[in-house]
Amino acid sequence: MEEKITAYCFDRLDQTLCQLNREDCAIIAGGTDIMVLHKSRRGVPSKIPKPIVFIDHLSELKQVYQHHNDLHIGACSTYSELLENRLIPMPLKNAIKTIAAPAIRNRGTLGGNICNASPAGDTLPLLYVYNAKLLLRSVTGDRLVAISDFIQGPRRVQRFQNEILIEIILPSVLEEDAHVVFEKVGNRNADAIAKVLFAGFIRISNDRIDDIRIAFGAVGATMVRSTVIEKKLVGKTIPLADADITTIVAAFDKVIRPIDDQRSTATYRKTVALNLLRYFLSLKQYQTN
Ligand SMILES: Cc1cc2nc3c(=O)[nH]c(=O)nc-3n(C[C@H](O)[C@H](O)[C@H](O)COP(=O)(O)OP(=O)(O)OC[C@H]3O[C@@H](n4cnc5c(N)ncnc54)[C@H](O)[C@@H]3O)c2cc1C
Repeated sequence: MEEKITAYCFDRLDQTLCQLNREDCAIIAGGTDIMVLHKSRRGVPSKIPKPIVFIDHLSELKQVYQHHNDLHIGACSTYSELLENRLIPMPLKNAIKTIAAPAIRNRGTLGGNICNASPAGDTLPLLYVYNAKLLLRSVTGDRLVAISDFIQGPRRVQRFQNEILIEIILPSVLEEDAHVVFEKVGNRNADAIAKVLFAGFIRISNDRIDDIRIAFGAVGATMVRSTVIEKKLVGKTIPLADADITTIVAAFDKVIRPIDDQRSTATYRKTVALNLLRYFLSLKQYQTN
């Protein structure tokens, strides 16, 4: 028997929000995660157990603009669009280039990577060290949430049924005095799911660390970041003493708890994550001497 699904595709964001307020719908942006999640077997269309609402065509969700030094990225901007945009910081472009292959990058969106909340979402560690804020909208208004509060576990986000993620805001990212590093370890340079992800952000003034942020992906249920450990480094002189590096590596050794799965082992993941941290903390290129 022929199966029917209900699908909505409104011209405007406000109409879409009204529908989401009336009915519990599955949101589809690029569909590259949700279609895979609901696939059953080869040749059979994915079966999503709710009415669906398409949002990727909405121009309100595709704006990328600068406001003071903050960067606002529309949630439905595709990876390919972001690669073409001069405002997108190079480390984020480098992370995007490691995602899937061009066909998926033409469909997949930054908002989808966040709302899918995979422990191995490639853009997530960078968004954590950029202190990304998320603008969510419903018929009752807007709210801003820090990405670390929004993502609560694998595929678990703090989104109400009637809300859409509108924008990702990267505060002060367009000030050009921080060094940002992104590393992805996978089986290949692209089209591989990460075994380990690393992002580091460091700002130095007068040879001292002003601000430092460190995030790991694929080594826990969500991105691993510890502001308590980061604070131990603030005010330290660059280059860091070996003893300081050893202390920080030991502190992260206690909070990183990877698992064994089909892609890698917990031991490999932890070793590589801590090596990447050591490498970031010893990097010469941002040191003044
Ligand atoms: C072959 C293949 C390779 C891949 N490779 C990688 C890779 O290398 N790295 C990587 O990180 N990912 C990879 N992915 C996963 C996927 O492409 C990305 O996570 C992508 O960013 C998802 O975006 P999307 O727009 O397609 O999300 P969708 O599938 O449309 O949505 C994902 C989830 O987010 C929700 N959602 C989407 N947008 C919004 C919004 N604006 N507001 C509220 N909820 C929303 C949806 O309801 C759904 O629950 C791959 C996928 C495939 C199929």
